[in-house]
Amino acid sequence: MEKIIITTSDSVSGIVVGGRWQAVVKLLPEKDAVIITDSNIADIYGDDFPDIPVLKIEPGEKSKQFKIIDSLAKKLLKAGIDRSGFILGIGGGVVCDVTGFLASVYMRGIRAGYVSTSLLSQVDASTGGKTGVNAGSVKNVLGTFRQPEFVICDTTMLRTLPDDEYLSGMSELIKTGIIGDRSIIDLLENNTAAIMRRERELLTSLVSKAIRYKASVVAKDEKEAGLRRVLNFGHTFGHAVELFSGVKHGYAVAAGMKMATLYSYRKDYISRKDCERITDLLKRYNLSGDINIPPEKMEKMIVHDKKRTGTEMNFVFIKGIEKPVVEKIPVRELIGFYKDYLKGIVVI
Ligand code: ADP
Ligand code: ZN
Repeated sequence: MEKIIITTSDSVSGIVVGGRWQAVVKLLPEKDAVIITDSNIADIYGDDFPDIPVLKIEPGEKSKQFKIIDSLAKKLLKAGIDRSGFILGIGGGVVCDVTGFLASVYMRGIRAGYVSTSLLSQVDASTGGKTGVNAGSVKNVLGTFRQPEFVICDTTMLRTLPDDEYLSGMSELIKTGIIGDRSIIDLLENNTAAIMRRERELLTSLVSKAIRYKASVVAKDEKEAGLRRVLNFGHTFGHAVELFSGVKHGYAVAAGMKMATLYSYRKDYISRKDCERITDLLKRYNLSGDINIPPEKMEKMIVHDKKRTGTEMNFVFIKGIEKPVVEKIPVRELIGFYKDYLKGIVVI
């Protein structure tokens, strides 16, 4: 078991990786604690939940809505939870985002912690303190930065995760390896079968490496002023793919990483060897589905992306493994590259 501490300007948060999630009961206050979870998690793990009230939401993105926050707040009031209360989120990214947002606004802020149950949330969403709900189809429009007191990542919980959710999370793990930790890439390359079997020890090692890297970035740039932008590797094209095709976040980010990698190669930022290494790794984890968004649509979606400033935008390139660089580039150039990519002009 390993504990990673994230220290920011106004909080200290501990992420525990590798222990048994049931130990969470020891971290809860004696009274006034409530669980928020989704119905899938409640069905699988509910029998082992600590003996406190459970508020359930529907699984999936549709629960990231303000009206869900409103209805949960009413339920907290009914349960007599005041400022000294505690909310425990048990679930994936959606449950953690909703729990974190609610905890940061309910009575101007109450304590919260998470048991993070999906690979995507363990390696990405539950570290960094971002919370939020969507406004219509636009993601995370209403949100806050708020570190939970603790996050528990028990990788045995990943065994019950549906295959597509598992691979979607794998994509963010690959991203972290590319931008921040080559030993993640080595493990993913050399132990593919065991990782596909979801062996606990390997997963614990991978998840803790990913969290350590993200924690180091977040500690230096809590509010995404600069450095933290490297975490968006693959996400410029990725968000467009996600919006256009509705595929899961990780699959879209994988398509975005492939494009960002080829773009970096085209600019002579990376070697052919590194380029092949990354595209092969994505293939190995069934993450190299092709995309075919018309360029005009791609441009429209990209200019709506919040990372844009004027006609230029920040784009994360790589200059090798562990060497992400953020550069401002004209949107026109980006779309020019994308058109060539679609025509198959950009090949390794
Ligand atoms: P994210 O991928 O951001 O974590 P969700 O919170 O929506 O998004 O989780 C994805 C889906 O996987 C949801 O349907 C959720 O109920 C389900 N899920 C999360 N963790 C587990 C788990 N450990 N076992 C089974 N299903 C899970
Ligand atoms: Zn992401």
